[in-house]
Amino acid sequence: MGTIRCRCGAVEIELALSRDVFRLECCCYDCNTGLWYAHQRGGPPGPANQCIDTSWLANDFRIVKGEAAIGAFLNFKNADTTRFYCKQCWSVLFADHALYAGKVIACQAAAYDGITGLQRMPLQARHFVRDLSEAQRQALPPWGGDPANVYPGVADNLIARFPAMLEAGSEGIVMNARLLLERIGGAVVPDDAPRLSAGPPSLMQQLPAAG
Ligand SMILES: [Zn+2]
Ligand SMILES: [Zn+2]
Repeated sequence: MGTIRCRCGAVEIELALSRDVFRLECCCYDCNTGLWYAHQRGGPPGPANQCIDTSWLANDFRIVKGEAAIGAFLNFKNADTTRFYCKQCWSVLFADHALYAGKVIACQAAAYDGITGLQRMPLQARHFVRDLSEAQRQALPPWGGDPANVYPGVADNLIARFPAMLEAGSEGIVMNARLLLERIGGAVVPDDAPRLSAGPPSLMQQLPAAG
């Protein structure tokens, strides 16, 4: 049974689908800064190399314990990603995004060994390397896969797989990210870290310009 746990053990979430529907390494500013912020507040450190092991999971789960300890934050006002975290230990549990259409969530809990029992596919891509400084890029561990799957921006193979990912996902009846957000009273926008909103435009903000 796939489980997400926060580091302090207050929150435990059991996944309806015990495998991921996509997996890549995300180097984007928003993810890295989100984990950085949580770490500033006492959470686990993010990965050493600004490249976060990310699995997409079905948006269908059960909160075994700790619902009252779960909070949510946006990196900045109108940000398109909502990150759910444990208010006691600032472990980031998973994230929702409008493009996920209620069917999947993105989980970066592997950054602090917070995922157990999940069947994970091999890493499919490394993306948003353009968000890294030259020094950060040099410090990345070598990419073991096809060099074509290292992307400056969003991974083409992620976009290509999106319809199939949504198909493989599901919107939980018992609990899902939207229901949880309602139950915990919405997301907060921290006002104590300008760095959270100092990144390049997020994917969704770039889409109209690209379209
Ligand atoms: Zn915790
Ligand atoms: Zn990211």
